[in-house]
Amino acid sequence: MSENVLSVRDLCVYFEVRGEGWFPERKQLRAVDGVSFDLGPAETLGVVGESGCGKSTLARAVVALVPVTSGEIHFDGHNLVGLGAEQIRQQRRHLQIIFQDPLASLDPRMTVGQIIGEPLRSFFPRMSGQERRAKVLEMMRQVGLLADYINRYPHEFSGGQAQRIGIARALILQPEVVVCDEPVSSLDVSIKAQIVNLLMELQQVYGVSLIFVAHDLASVRHISHRVLVLYLGKVMELASSDAIYRAPRHPYTQSLIHAVPVADPRQARAHPAKGLEGEPPSPIAPPSGCVFRTRCRYAIERCAQETPMLRQVGESLVACHLAEQIRVPAER
Ligand code: SF4
Repeated sequence: MSENVLSVRDLCVYFEVRGEGWFPERKQLRAVDGVSFDLGPAETLGVVGESGCGKSTLARAVVALVPVTSGEIHFDGHNLVGLGAEQIRQQRRHLQIIFQDPLASLDPRMTVGQIIGEPLRSFFPRMSGQERRAKVLEMMRQVGLLADYINRYPHEFSGGQAQRIGIARALILQPEVVVCDEPVSSLDVSIKAQIVNLLMELQQVYGVSLIFVAHDLASVRHISHRVLVLYLGKVMELASSDAIYRAPRHPYTQSLIHAVPVADPRQARAHPAKGLEGEPPSPIAPPSGCVFRTRCRYAIERCAQETPMLRQVGESLVACHLAEQIRVPAER
């Protein structure tokens, strides 16, 4: 891949939360804690982890929808961290987001044509109504929506169709990067596949780079070139999609892969899907050393004392003291 379109460096997003009791203490919740990655042109980076691991906060921080505590987000020659509201608005033309709940993210008072055309109205106020309508209709065609739908309202559509409207709106300005924040989590399995395939087709057409957030590895497998695995706001592993599935190094990645059901019934009997036991600890009081140690079957004393740094092991960047010693499981 040539030069990166987006580079995130040591990104931290902390929130102040109030404790409980009569005299509640203010505590710090580390939603995203020192995350770095690059995104190449027309590349898809999958971001996975359980609920509460910080993936949606990371997605929203990248498009400047949540305030960043520290770190850098380099995009289009600017560090987005520290830019003013108008400069960020200008960058949004090239940096868009698709949300998890398609119906909730669309304004119920606007028609499909108005929703999809709204970014054009905002960034190209002199564009004629006729030209805007033509662009909206072309975008609707590309996402598989009938031209007849242009005057309908969001409540008249299914979840899958509403997500197509959200995709059309995100792509109408032909952005360089689209952050997809769990865009298929609320959809049925068959619709999920259609939306993932649509995003892949549109990536081919527009050369857009995608950050695709999901809570399970099965959803990102098909679409991602590389995968970043998050746990309690920290990167556990980052590798090509192929390497993550073929040779997962981190015990957490291995558990996520083990939780993915396999389609072949014979293989499913031989390797039954098994989720990770227990809940992640609170991000308000994360474990010392390796944040995964309370659920890791390989944990040793060192894991409680020393935070593992992200380092190259085989084909992956892994944050685990024992990454060289832990056996890579057979491919499922
Ligand atoms: Fe497990 Fe220790 Fe590796 Fe953390 S550093 S994943 S606790 S072995």
